[in-house]
Amino acid sequence: MYHAPVRDLRFVIHELVGESAVRSCPSFADYSAETADAILSEAARFAEGVLDPINKSGDRDGAKWTPDGVIAAPGFKEAFAKFVEGGWTTLKASPEFGGQGVPSIISTALEEIWASANLAFKLCPMLTAGAIEALSHCGSPAQKKLFLPKMVSGEWTGTMNLTEPQAGTDLGSIRTRAVPDGNRHRLFGQKIFITYGDHDLTPNIVHMVLARIEGSPPGTKGISLFIVPKVLINEDGSLGAPNEVRCVSIEHKLGIHGSPTCVLAYGDDKGAIGHLVGEQNRGLEYMFIMMNAARLSVGLEGYALAERAFQQAADWAKTRVQGKPPVPNPSGGPLPIIHHPDVKRMLLTMKSTTEAMRALGLYAAHQLDLGSDHPDAAKRAAAAARGDLLIPIVKAWSTENGVELASLGVQVHGGMGFIEETGAAQTLRDVRITTIYEGTTGIQANDLIGRKVGRDQGAAMGLLLSEISADLEGIKSSNAAVSAARSAAAEGVQILKEATASLLASQQSDPKRGLAIAVPYLKTAGTVLGAWLMARSASIAAGEIEAGSKESEYYNSKLASARFYAEHIAPMALSYSRIVKNGIDSVVSTDATLIA
Ligand SMILES: Cc1cc2nc3c(=O)[nH]c(=O)nc-3n(C[C@H](O)[C@H](O)[C@H](O)COP(=O)(O)OP(=O)(O)OC[C@H]3O[C@@H](n4cnc5c(N)ncnc54)[C@H](O)[C@@H]3O)c2cc1C
Repeated sequence: MYHAPVRDLRFVIHELVGESAVRSCPSFADYSAETADAILSEAARFAEGVLDPINKSGDRDGAKWTPDGVIAAPGFKEAFAKFVEGGWTTLKASPEFGGQGVPSIISTALEEIWASANLAFKLCPMLTAGAIEALSHCGSPAQKKLFLPKMVSGEWTGTMNLTEPQAGTDLGSIRTRAVPDGNRHRLFGQKIFITYGDHDLTPNIVHMVLARIEGSPPGTKGISLFIVPKVLINEDGSLGAPNEVRCVSIEHKLGIHGSPTCVLAYGDDKGAIGHLVGEQNRGLEYMFIMMNAARLSVGLEGYALAERAFQQAADWAKTRVQGKPPVPNPSGGPLPIIHHPDVKRMLLTMKSTTEAMRALGLYAAHQLDLGSDHPDAAKRAAAAARGDLLIPIVKAWSTENGVELASLGVQVHGGMGFIEETGAAQTLRDVRITTIYEGTTGIQANDLIGRKVGRDQGAAMGLLLSEISADLEGIKSSNAAVSAARSAAAEGVQILKEATASLLASQQSDPKRGLAIAVPYLKTAGTVLGAWLMARSASIAAGEIEAGSKESEYYNSKLASARFYAEHIAPMALSYSRIVKNGIDSVVSTDATLIA
């Protein structure tokens, strides 16, 4: 049974980032910790009571394809209706279209809860939010008026249609055609892997489709964005005839069985009617506008599933009795495995890394809030640059860790982890997709070393590292856990500085050389940033304990996590950085024919 980590979310939002920091954006001037707490508690109740109970059945029974359309996994339709009724679809969107405009830091916390409770369900509101964001930024006033209120209210859902059989990472090779037809277009082509591309949760689905208008240039510069509704909309706003979009099949997948992954055929006959969004040939650019939010949303899935895996493993370890661990034991009999040092090590790895990832994810979300809303233009620009820098790290570091930690969760269960009954296997299967969709780990790392670090010659990274150093200088506690966490973070900053210098030097000779060590560089960065946030967390926790907090158990567990992170996780930054320094030639000089 999943329990939303409301206390830790509150810690990061209110104590680590801080209520006044959230309020510094004029749009969130009314924000209060009390309101945020109320939303978090209500979300926890919904996730635990509605979404978690259908997680396992969703995996077992999955969504079903029929010739008349896809039928959602059992219970998903009712859960979605309750989700809509609770107003959860409206939280993030702008009040102009019926949304509540909560800060990203809050919506990111909520999305973690939905993803932990039921990743397959969470993808539907997530993709809808992506479509809403694309339309909000780039749609015409008429398009916004027609589509956004219904998508925000949850009456209709949305999808993102990028991928085609020959166009995965390389979107420049998209072939779906758009033929002008008066003031609209007719689309022909096939999209694959479209999440919630068809379902029976709502009467209409708004597909955001990338296609090439006839005569447009080849490659990325010839792609346009279209709105293609599943059901056409009459002038009075009522639903009309079905559009020419057909779900040909759904994929049989490793995980997230409750989420229909659809092959969609556009234009079997006269062409699917589509409405151009913004200007012709700027479709990919529009997609990039919403990329940060989408990548953050998938990054948090990594730690959301790590949290679920941790809870499953900890529950198991508290009840599975096996052997005699080296602890005082008056009965002399066997004890639960949680007392074995190696099981403790595995659980601490899961807990501390998850906390570090959550802290980084919410810190990055806060930077996005400041970057779009801070009244001071210089602060806005600095926060936007920091958000840009952090997003690929959050996406790839959190999801790669999510896979490793969910695997460790299986290990804690022993043989029963491999058996579906415990649910640990489902968590591992479900999290596996997160390093792949919304840009694979390799693509995030290329983005980090290219656009985010290479382009400004390490300026944004350098600024972050000097702020971290100053922050660590200010941590004066004599508490042993805090000292360990602070030293590990300070050491990490030095390691990341050197890794950045080494990356830039290798890029100077040939920018492509850095691609060989992009992922180890990204992992160095994630590990070090995690160490910094854990050191800050430890310092806050020690302060609270010294001040006589009534929540000493929570704060002591935070200190234990931070100390463990400092001693077991942070040191890995050194190994990654050694690869950054020495690992290029073994990749670059090895011809592909020597590998396979
Ligand atoms: C369950 C699921 C849901 C999805 N949902 C959606 C959706 O809703 N909408 C949508 O449009 N798409 C969706 N996708 C598609 C997803 O975004 C792509 O699968 C992903 O972008 C990778 O593309 P690909 O599968 O073609 O892999 P490929 O591009 O073939 O990549 C294969 C490998 O090569 C590496 N690689 C490729 N190019 C480079 C490069 N330039 N540099 C370094 N490494 C490289 C990749 O990192 C990867 O390891 C979904 C996919 C799945 C499986």
